[in-house]
Amino acid sequence: MVQGSANLNTEVNEKWLQEYIDSWVDFFKKQTVDGEVADYIPILARADQEALGISIIGKNGLTIRSGITEEKFTIQSISKVLTFIVACMERGLAYVLNRVDVEPTGEAFNSIMHLQISQPKKPFNPLVNSGALTVSSMLEGKTSDQKLETLFLLLEKIIGYRPELNIETYESERDTSMRNRAIGYYLLEGGYLESDLGITLETYFKQCSIEITIDDLARIGLVLSNDGFDPYTNEEIIPRAISRLAKAMMLTCGMYDASGKFAAYVGIPAKSGVSGGIMAVVPPRVREDDFPFLDGCGIGVYGPSLDKQGNSIAGIKLLKHIANQWDFSLF
Ligand code: GLN
Repeated sequence: MVQGSANLNTEVNEKWLQEYIDSWVDFFKKQTVDGEVADYIPILARADQEALGISIIGKNGLTIRSGITEEKFTIQSISKVLTFIVACMERGLAYVLNRVDVEPTGEAFNSIMHLQISQPKKPFNPLVNSGALTVSSMLEGKTSDQKLETLFLLLEKIIGYRPELNIETYESERDTSMRNRAIGYYLLEGGYLESDLGITLETYFKQCSIEITIDDLARIGLVLSNDGFDPYTNEEIIPRAISRLAKAMMLTCGMYDASGKFAAYVGIPAKSGVSGGIMAVVPPRVREDDFPFLDGCGIGVYGPSLDKQGNSIAGIKLLKHIANQWDFSLF
């Protein structure tokens, strides 16, 4: 029998789903001890290692939240999906894809190796740092604030408020950024930066320092699940072709060098960040059984204890479990 199946519109079943999620969050919370919080900047090192929270928002408005749900945390690498979307909206797909490829690297997010060995030095994809810096350099505007304005407007449209920058995170990112600067120089050498290196880095550190919640991530995921349309107003927020490409990037490159395993064992587009956030997208599926969220949903996860690849250790296990129980996989 499918866990939490049948007549999902009834309050009784909403209660079941909530009970399942509560018990799974409780169970997987124990796995946070096997990971470590990021410690390269003080504010991340202060995160509660045992925290775990999830928000799932369905197309029909059904929302299931559990664990640590109110915490604000910095979006970090999840921002790479959003700046990629904005750059494609501002410049057009062809322009962006001419400067950033769509191939997974199998390397860590801040690897410099593939930039050294590939000829030309075109960044492999927009979700590793080399590609993300190239994308940030393409955003319209002269200053970093101008470059990020369209991103803020897009976020405001989706999550309903203008998020804030965490200044302490921004300053720490900036002051510990040797690797990103090195990547920036490689990109400059290859002719892939469209703006001054200093402005590009400033833009990137700021975008990583935007504060969000798991509900915000779930809402963005829901819009992507719905091919870029707001499911409630039917307004197109992200053009369909761009939304599809963003999901393809998430599926193949979104979980760093664990992306293949995540695609194989969880089977949905997702993007993680070093603060422990994960944004996941469950597109609509056709199934004979009455599984929850068949029309698709967006998921936000927060669990700052990270595994060796830098993904939320308990967050991944929780997602894998839910995806298996409720048949979320696209495959
Ligand atoms: N601020 C981080 C960096 O580039 C983002 C890393 C991440 O979330 N993986 O180093």
